[in-house]
Amino acid sequence: MFLIKYNMKVLTIKKRTLCVILVCIILICSVVGICYAVQATSSPKPEYTIVIDAGHGGRDGGSVGELGSIEKELNLEYANSLKSMLEKSDVKVVMTRKDDNGLYEEDASNKKLSDMRARRDIIRSAKPDLVISIHMNSYPLKNCVGAKTFYKINSEASLKAAQCVQDSLHYYINNASSSVSEGDYYILNCTDYTSILIECGFISNPMEEQLLADKHYREDFIYSVYCGILMYLGI
Ligand SMILES: [Zn+2]
Repeated sequence: MFLIKYNMKVLTIKKRTLCVILVCIILICSVVGICYAVQATSSPKPEYTIVIDAGHGGRDGGSVGELGSIEKELNLEYANSLKSMLEKSDVKVVMTRKDDNGLYEEDASNKKLSDMRARRDIIRSAKPDLVISIHMNSYPLKNCVGAKTFYKINSEASLKAAQCVQDSLHYYINNASSSVSEGDYYILNCTDYTSILIECGFISNPMEEQLLADKHYREDFIYSVYCGILMYLGI
């Protein structure tokens, strides 16, 4: 009789222990599940880095329009507008230059080379998803107009990025070319990162120069570049 009672007690204790273990396992599984769910929903958006290169700077002003616009100044204004638009979309932006100054060493014998190498080094350390160099075009024939995007020779990614930007420009902006062109430029070739160069328009055409210098035109223009970039990044 005592033995039966004792066995029953042992059995009850074992049952309780089993129940406690089971509850613990369920609790641990739930906590782990919740952790995974929280991790999945709060995982950050894919982060993209874009280098924006405002062409020229310092003693290298680039082209000058008949109405007095200086290319390096317009380039920086366009670059800054693009920077603020991209940053609102959580894209990390690295600028090659943030002010009027060039990037060359003052005592460099070849300032252009020194400037371009400094830009290359900024791109290398940023490890960007895309490099966008911004320029204003100029040509002796004053009737030349229109925005055009250039891509790196033999780079599929660069071609795709240029096409996305140019398609958007062609859609939004009058005179923008419908096609892209190969560009054999140092800024495109100096690293293996996907790079494009946008000639925003011809500063040598007084009508286009006036447009390029207009704040509202610039905002529309940069908005269309921005849309092309998002299209390329797939965001
Ligand atoms: Zn230029």
